[in-house]
Amino acid sequence: MIIVNSDRASKSLAWVSIALGVCALLLSFNGQDLWRPDARLAFLTLFTLSVGATVLVKVPKAKAYIAASDVAVFVAILLYDNSVATPLAALATLTAAIRFDRRLTRPLVAAALAAVATFVSAWGANQLAAWGVVPQSALLGINLFIMAAVRAVISAAPAACATVMAKGQSRIVTYFSTSVWGFVVYLFMASIAGLVGTASAWVSVDVAFAVLAAVGLAYHACSLYMKEGTARQGEGTPDGRLSLPSEGSESLRRAFNDAPTGMAILSARGDLLRVNRSLGKMLGRSEEELLRSGIQEFVHPDDLGPVLAGVKDVIKGKELYLRTDIRHPLKDGATAWAHWSVGRFFAPYTDEVRLILQAQDVTGRKLAEEKLLHDACHDILTGLPNRALFIDHVKLSISRARRREGSLFAVLFLDLDRFKIINDSLGHMVGDELLIIVARRLERCVREGDTVARVGGDEFMVLLDDLQDIGEAITVAERIQNDVKIPININGHEVFTTMSIGIAPCSAEYDNPEDIMRDADTAMYRAKSLGKARHEVFDKTMHAFAVNLLQLETDLRKALERDQFFIHYQPIVSLDSFHIRGFEALVRWAHPERGFISPMDFIPVAEETGLIVALGEWTLHEACRQMHHWQHEFPSQDPMFISVNLSTKQFNQPNLIEQVSDILRTTGLNPRALKLEITESAVMENIEVATEMLRQLRALGVQLSIDDFGTGYSSLSYLHRFPIDTLKIDRSFVSRMSGNNENTEIVRTIVVLAQNLGMDVVAEGVETNEQLALLRQLGCEYGQGYYFSRPVSDVEAGRIIADTRALQPDRAIGDGRRLPRINVEPGTYTATPAA
Ligand code: C2E
Ligand code: CA
Ligand code: CA
Repeated sequence: MIIVNSDRASKSLAWVSIALGVCALLLSFNGQDLWRPDARLAFLTLFTLSVGATVLVKVPKAKAYIAASDVAVFVAILLYDNSVATPLAALATLTAAIRFDRRLTRPLVAAALAAVATFVSAWGANQLAAWGVVPQSALLGINLFIMAAVRAVISAAPAACATVMAKGQSRIVTYFSTSVWGFVVYLFMASIAGLVGTASAWVSVDVAFAVLAAVGLAYHACSLYMKEGTARQGEGTPDGRLSLPSEGSESLRRAFNDAPTGMAILSARGDLLRVNRSLGKMLGRSEEELLRSGIQEFVHPDDLGPVLAGVKDVIKGKELYLRTDIRHPLKDGATAWAHWSVGRFFAPYTDEVRLILQAQDVTGRKLAEEKLLHDACHDILTGLPNRALFIDHVKLSISRARRREGSLFAVLFLDLDRFKIINDSLGHMVGDELLIIVARRLERCVREGDTVARVGGDEFMVLLDDLQDIGEAITVAERIQNDVKIPININGHEVFTTMSIGIAPCSAEYDNPEDIMRDADTAMYRAKSLGKARHEVFDKTMHAFAVNLLQLETDLRKALERDQFFIHYQPIVSLDSFHIRGFEALVRWAHPERGFISPMDFIPVAEETGLIVALGEWTLHEACRQMHHWQHEFPSQDPMFISVNLSTKQFNQPNLIEQVSDILRTTGLNPRALKLEITESAVMENIEVATEMLRQLRALGVQLSIDDFGTGYSSLSYLHRFPIDTLKIDRSFVSRMSGNNENTEIVRTIVVLAQNLGMDVVAEGVETNEQLALLRQLGCEYGQGYYFSRPVSDVEAGRIIADTRALQPDRAIGDGRRLPRINVEPGTYTATPAA
């Protein structure tokens, strides 16, 4: 008997087999007397139904077993005829098969095939004897051979068919391997049967019965012992394999069903054969639903490939277990995570590969991990990707650009203009709120798939992928600028802001993200320096400019210790008397290779790098020392003052007061002779702090002047609160003054304002006679500009002071080093350079 355990044994095959079996049974009875029971027959039948049915011999290399009862069948063929052997074979097979397949069809098929095989072999044995072609001495041997061969060939047929259907292997190969090995086993049994049959001629039935009973008892005791042993080891069947819960004990089944982890038993094809409650709960599906499904129906498509590959290795025995985390899409759209552990075992008796799955719900842990990961690469305030993630995205874009020729993407560097002022004046809460709103506005300005990141305090970056041309990036930049400048109401404050944007167009030539981001930054820097609230597209010259700037920074660090700085002095003249009232100290840098560098170029760099603190201290000291020297050289009733510029950084320096008073002390200059020039924007950036700083400087006795007045956005209402001595009208108004134009009106307003507040006024950048005349008309007290003198060296400045001391009141200084003659006629002033 060969028992098949295949889900795919086709029904028709089964019915054909059963029909053949019935025919064999009917034929075996045909023409024969009905059974004449004797002791031997009773013994054979008893053996078949008891010991014979429980002892199974595995067919090597095939998933089949042969029951020991087949020995009895062979004996029956030898001692009786078809009428006994055929029903006995059917009975023996049915009894053995029904033990592990309670669905009747398969045992019936096996029994029918056994009947057919037995009928054919019994008929063959009879024919051989009847024909007398075989010598009597060889008859038994040949009989046994034929019996074994016929049984093996016929019984293996459905097994072979089933295997072929299930696995698609070559039918011939399977069939042969099963029948050949089956034949070996059958031949072995037939040989025993031959011995038993021969022996039965001279051994009495009682003795045989006793021997067999003893053998049966011994076998039973032995199998009991083996079972107990393996049960202690916690394993399954005596051959050390796991057993299926469906075939195991009730307690095992219950343990499976009620296990807190999800469990399932799967076929090698991934069909679920058994599932437990926990698995159903975890996957949000009923057990019935799961049993109708395959692995692919509840594993996330992205995980399916690796899972199937892993399972394959387990099936082949390359790996003992598959252990991995898997996503399960749930019906409500959510995703559950499970830790899978998949192992292999063989189904008892049939030897088919089965998989046992244990699935532990790890959704909570995974979500926590995901959140950690998300936080690690996102900005907490705005939820946007941070710099690290942005760099990753740019890397991807670079490699994409390499793969696809001609593809273009762009990186935008965006910086909020005046964010610091908003943050300092309205508070950090408003600042944070503003950043969040700006983040959301940026997101709505880009397409899906583009990346918006926050890379610094008020700095953002945008990655625009798949561009046709750079015009698209410019369009996005414009959209952002328009969107960002819409006023925002935060806690009752109307906040306006703008953005400066640098655009770096990128193709495959870039190697690393940092280079792209640096170029976008450079372009942004350019946009800022060109007046903010605008965008600039990066070009190579900007890079040169940036490199240049970097070099400047390096050189600047060395310049102070190498004595490359010096000061030029520009006179400040009374427009009434044309006497020199003081000088403005203007720092100069003599670069060893590049010659003179304008303070406009290096002061911002010094500010950015913090070098301004040391440089400012040096300038202040040098200017005070120089003025103290002049005051001694040219004593006067009305001593001159020295104006020194303070940059924003210097002004915000906490130890400024200390520094100034130290310098005054060491140089011996009277504090009233020092006038500090602070720009309007430096004061307005942080009104509270600035007011306090101004008050303390004032307390030292120092004079204070607001530089470039009129260009900032100072609120006039604040002005009276500051302890200011002088307003310095910005050059841009003075140089554009003409007749009664707008600039003249501005100058007039500033003069009146200063008079009302008890301050005096200095007009910067006086270049022409007309400007001078207008300023005098408007009542401006002091002037400074090329009309009188360019900034000059200390030596020349000393000479000018000496010269003007000897001047008539109708003469003043002018045109660089020479003193112009000024004709004082009512209403008109003309300057004639001195010969
Ligand atoms: P500022 O304080 O507004 O200085 C006046 C600038 O106007 C000087 O340029 C001066 O040379 C120029 N100027 C004077 N008269 C005329 C004129 O009639 N026409 C024209 N077109 N320009 C005139 P300079 O020396 O290049 O300084 C530029 C800026 O650099 C200064 O502007 C100031 O903000 C800064 N700076 C100069 N020296 C120092 C310093 O020692 N410390 C600090 N913190 N900043 C300084
Ligand atoms: Ca100045
Ligand atoms: Ca100025």
